Amino acid sequence: MPRKSRRRSKKHCTLLKRLVKIKAKKKAKLEEEEGVTPLVDRYWLQRYDLFSRYDKGIKLDEEGWFSVTPEEIAVRHAERSGGGVVIDCFAGVGGNAIQFASVSQHVVAIDIDPHKVAMASNNAKIYGVEDYIDFVVGDFFQLAPYLKGNVVFLSPPWGGPSYSSVGNFTLDLLKPKDGYSMFQIAQSITPNIIMFLPKNVDQREVEELSWLSSPPLHVEIEENYVQSSLKGMTAYFGDAPFR
Ligand code: ADP
Repeated sequence: MPRKSRRRSKKHCTLLKRLVKIKAKKKAKLEEEEGVTPLVDRYWLQRYDLFSRYDKGIKLDEEGWFSVTPEEIAVRHAERSGGGVVIDCFAGVGGNAIQFASVSQHVVAIDIDPHKVAMASNNAKIYGVEDYIDFVVGDFFQLAPYLKGNVVFLSPPWGGPSYSSVGNFTLDLLKPKDGYSMFQIAQSITPNIIMFLPKNVDQREVEELSWLSSPPLHVEIEENYVQSSLKGMTAYFGDAPFR
């Protein structure tokens, strides 16, 4: 190769390397701004499944990326909630509360973490439903005796992404209280309870919950898919207003 073109190709390589570095830096900055740590990289690829309006300024933190209900499933929960007053007990960054608010009379969205509530409030504004949601920073278990509503929605912590490594997810693995205690507390508000649970949840135990009340509650368990991938199970307890 003539010396001149060898020098040019060396220069070309250096330029390319610099461009790649700049691009990588830009990507890292964008990801940092959006709370995308290496751990949530996989979830970032699914961002439009989580929030179809993601690009309008949706805010999530690391836990939010793991735990928000995919929008398609949240829409399904909302469709079946009956349109009354819904209490979302572990609201997180607001994926469910937003969809409930789109079809319900009112939503009470509770989360113990003020940062989550701030993000949920921001996200609700993006969907134009903030006027239909009362955001409450607090512990659901302490607030329960004061709550009134037609439906209680429970999407309790599953313990992060590691939940899927358990063969049979029993209800005692739910946090911060086991599923039985949580269900009984929810029942003190209304028999109409929607529980969003891991895909590997022990279905026999979920059915058993319905026997905790007398007379036993009707329960229906459905599988929730997004793009043919099973994301979770929803148990609908009670009669009206579910369709
Ligand atoms: P996962 O384990 O499924 O990733 P998270 O740990 O993100 O779930 O928990 C779901 C949400 O529940 C979080 O936003 C968390 O702040 C909230 N949360 C946890 N405990 C309580 C509580 N006692 N009352 C209300 N919200 C709570």
